[in-house]
Amino acid sequence: MLRAYDLVKWFGETPALRGVSFSVAAGETVAITGPSGSGKSTLLQCVAGIMTPDVGEVWYEETPVHALSETRRALLRREHFGVVFQFGQLLEELTAEENVALPLLLAGRAREEALTAARQWLARLDVADCARQRPGQMSAGQMQRVAVARALVTSPKVLFADEPTGALDSYEGALVLRILLSAARTHGTTVVLVTHDPRVAAHADREIAVRDGQLEAAMVRA
Ligand code: ADP
Ligand code: ADP
Repeated sequence: MLRAYDLVKWFGETPALRGVSFSVAAGETVAITGPSGSGKSTLLQCVAGIMTPDVGEVWYEETPVHALSETRRALLRREHFGVVFQFGQLLEELTAEENVALPLLLAGRAREEALTAARQWLARLDVADCARQRPGQMSAGQMQRVAVARALVTSPKVLFADEPTGALDSYEGALVLRILLSAARTHGTTVVLVTHDPRVAAHADREIAVRDGQLEAAMVRA
């Protein structure tokens, strides 16, 4: 479903990626692991169409993501992808349900329909009680659950998550990760997850280890 060929990315004099190739099958959950600074986030952003590689190709099904204009990449992301970052990046002035409804409103859905879908997703992530609260009133774990709901509300084909539990304590992190993966599996969503935490990676179907901008190993677990 998703293929990367020989990705190279430079930041000034620093090579962040030095020729990385891998593919992800539909419905798979893949963890990109490695130490801080190894290039995980850069790799995720290249395959998610957030950033373009200097060299190499990214294909999403039949679409050459690397060759699309910024506008078309934004459209592709909106229609097919969901993204979660370490800090949920919720809009402070909106309630939880409004934050989650926003991607549907941007896609042209009616307000009541969008809010209903948002509340369903908040319930699935066990934060129905937060629907009318603003991010400032919620705990870090609640905010991150809301961010996951917002990423999944559009039923994306692929969910990209960069350290989605990195800001949470290990108990809450494990809970959010379990809910994220179970929601994705229930809906057939492919997941590409960046983490430096081996305990988080252990929940994925497969691990892609990055070190100094290159793949260290591609280990397949049954
Ligand atoms: P990781 O996610 O594994 O921590 P990153 O992909 O964030 O690694 O970073 C890889 C390397 O690229 C690091 O040396 C980092 O400092 C550098 N880098 C990442 N993003 C930028 C940027 N926007 N500008 C300059 N250097 C960057
Ligand atoms: P992580 O290691 O959790 O992936 P970082 O804190 O390294 O995150 O980076 C957070 C953001 O800052 C990313 O968007 C990354 O691209 C950017 N970044 C990382 N390193 C640099 C750098 N040296 N200069 C500028 N931006 C950077």
